[in-house]
Amino acid sequence: MKVGVISLGCAKNLVDTERLLGRLKAGGAKLVKDPKKADIIVINTCGFIEPAKVEAIQTILEFAEKKKVIVMGCLVQRYKEELQREVPEVMAYFGTESWEQVADFLGLKKVESVQRVLTTPKSYTYLKISEGCNRLCSFCAIPLMRGKHRSRPVEEILQEAQYLAGQGVKELCLVSQDTTYYGRDLYGKGYLVKLLQQLEKIEGVRWIRLLYLYPTEVGQELLDHIASSEKTLPYFDVPLQHVSSKVLKSMRRGYDETFVRKLVEHIRKTLPYAVLRTTFIVGYPEEGEEDYKRLKDFVLEGHFHWLGVFCYSQEEGTHAYSLGDPIGKEEKETRREELLSVQEEITKKKNEELLGKELDLLVDGFDEEFGYVPVGRIYAQAPEVDGVTYVETEKGLEPGDMIKVRINQVGGYDLGCTDITL
Ligand code: SF4
Repeated sequence: MKVGVISLGCAKNLVDTERLLGRLKAGGAKLVKDPKKADIIVINTCGFIEPAKVEAIQTILEFAEKKKVIVMGCLVQRYKEELQREVPEVMAYFGTESWEQVADFLGLKKVESVQRVLTTPKSYTYLKISEGCNRLCSFCAIPLMRGKHRSRPVEEILQEAQYLAGQGVKELCLVSQDTTYYGRDLYGKGYLVKLLQQLEKIEGVRWIRLLYLYPTEVGQELLDHIASSEKTLPYFDVPLQHVSSKVLKSMRRGYDETFVRKLVEHIRKTLPYAVLRTTFIVGYPEEGEEDYKRLKDFVLEGHFHWLGVFCYSQEEGTHAYSLGDPIGKEEKETRREELLSVQEEITKKKNEELLGKELDLLVDGFDEEFGYVPVGRIYAQAPEVDGVTYVETEKGLEPGDMIKVRINQVGGYDLGCTDITL
């Protein structure tokens, strides 16, 4: 049986897709990359905001017309009955983490253990350390789909990390809905730093990157650890969502503008070379002109190397649903584009500050468009969401190579460098 799998949404969902691929492969299915060649297609969906839902539904409709299709993931977790009613031609619908049910449905053989089939370049992968979220952010539908926070035991994560290192992976990007909450449910206290200490001992792992840090949990212990670590990168992906205290209060984020300012300042003071990434939501129901201006001014202050901006999406079942959706689509989009264009210049400036610096670079692959030029990332660049660095070199490089480079060009989001490895 030839099975094709389509993964939609975020890195956390990609880990689930890789887990599914591993289960299908272990069960005897033949995996194919090109959906056209597949007998059956499994679509692992996302459904946290409107554009993600639209993309998922379009993908389902596109394939359900011509192929046997199974749909799983967040969208099904949330809207199974509606989907069954509206798109009955789909063979079966399953929620999140349903690789076993999919394998059973396909009649695949039972297996004892399963390893993920990696779909990222050999250099990096995502490592999920927990699932679900215990927070109560007013706008967020994720806990409705992913449930309460469940940390994976340290031993299980270490075992997986060992396996990944054995596959040649050099960078582990730790993901979860709330990475800083790690361990509280399992060990009665925050356990992220202890986990990092263990992960750093694994031979072959060169970089550990933390994604999705909740602002109030970026404490001194974590900062001190990163400051003294050779492997955990000084890269802070801290989704702030807004800066206006009024909006943050309504969002139930548990902090205000003063806190945000102190946090940013504190990270900079402890780690002057830290790279900050954040995300903001524009068009939240309570975001008046004044709140938006505060947000824009804050972005203009230039704290962040990288910025993601989402338009508010009113989601059933969330606390903010009852506030309505008074800000029109166009206005939200205008605010989003304005913030992104303000940030464009800042990102360029932050990149220019790296000119002349000698840094480690992890090779991800080659850019065929530019004549097969090696392309990789420095510590300031997370995979897939940030810019990349093009390498000028005489050597034959391979994905997963770690080299020393000197940054010598800035092309907006991306960088250029020369290989200075001896
Ligand atoms: S912390 Fe993140 S995943 Fe959890 S409720 Fe808030 S926005 Fe959603």
